[in-house]
Amino acid sequence: MTKQNFPTGQSIRIVDLRAVPISFPVPADKSVRLGIGRSVKRDSVLVRVETSDGLIGWGEAHHGRCPGAIAKLIDTTLRELVLGMDAFDVVGVWARVYKMQLASHGMGAAAALALSGLDIALWDLRCQATGWPLYRLLGGTAKPIKAYAGGIALGWQEPSLLAEEALRHVATGYRALKLRMGDSPGRDIARLRAVRLAVGNEIDILTDANTAYTLDDVRRVMPAFEECNVAWLEEPFPPQDRHAYAAASLLGRVPLAAGENHYTRYEFDTLLEDGHVRFVQPDLSKTGGVTEAMRIAAMASARKLTVNPHTSATAINMATSIHFLCAVDNPGYFEGDVTTLNPFRDNIAEQLPYSLDANGCVNPLPGVGIGLSLDLDFIAAHPLIEGPCYV
Ligand SMILES: [Mg+2]
Repeated sequence: MTKQNFPTGQSIRIVDLRAVPISFPVPADKSVRLGIGRSVKRDSVLVRVETSDGLIGWGEAHHGRCPGAIAKLIDTTLRELVLGMDAFDVVGVWARVYKMQLASHGMGAAAALALSGLDIALWDLRCQATGWPLYRLLGGTAKPIKAYAGGIALGWQEPSLLAEEALRHVATGYRALKLRMGDSPGRDIARLRAVRLAVGNEIDILTDANTAYTLDDVRRVMPAFEECNVAWLEEPFPPQDRHAYAAASLLGRVPLAAGENHYTRYEFDTLLEDGHVRFVQPDLSKTGGVTEAMRIAAMASARKLTVNPHTSATAINMATSIHFLCAVDNPGYFEGDVTTLNPFRDNIAEQLPYSLDANGCVNPLPGVGIGLSLDLDFIAAHPLIEGPCYV
């Protein structure tokens, strides 16, 4: 990607917008079980924006368990809404899609996911036009961001096997890891205890129930979670179960985390106003892209809360999330993807989206934008496989 010259005030028009949904099947021996099911394939919906002067920007929309539907929405309604608009006017594009789709027809997840991918692509275009890395365009600087071992990993399995997996991630440099809960309180506690015993007290243990807990489950696991010094309990319930979050926050000292299924600043406004969650986790490919994640980070900052973005399938989301964390004043953890097999992380671009440094931190990639050169042949070789990715 080379720097283009754009005199002040010059605009470029969006002349094409299309979705590029991609999939790969997960082999049975690489499948992971967690609170939302067993992984059978991985999906993503890439978003390609072309401008009047030939610049092409790429973004990533989360698949929402229905990648074909998200792609269709982008190729039809979103395309109609934004063709001809100024590609540099990311706030204006965001506002138009919001007004015509999310505001007038309710906060549908599909529209938020689609808008997210479009917004990330527009920031890519802005970076190309300036020749700047994304973190600088957003007002930040390159700095280390602490990371935890996450992604579709550390799932439901025998406690001894889980402890072995946890030790492998610690051996690669991670100083924090996230265990998948939401099975049964007894099995969850057994796994947690095995891992804490294996990794010692210096490693941060995070937990994620993937919305599978009841209030009684939280009541039953909380004493052991406190004893094992769990740093957060993520998504015990679906995002709309506000009263359950309120009740769970009173059941122990382990703080709650949520946000990967909260869309736009409006849903985060409610979450923050309720005040029961201490770790805020917007996913840039779900909540409204870079533009909206920056707004959400500012709202969390005003409450002295960190942002800990949930990451998604491909290197685009992962690299973008690190740049985002470098540009906010309240960065929390980056979610490292320690999934055993994820070619969308490893092979979609010439570069890996990140590497761990000696302190268990990641750094933004150098170069223009998010620092990735996409492999278009790889993308073309992984067309959409319809259907859900968890069963
Ligand atoms: Mg989660």
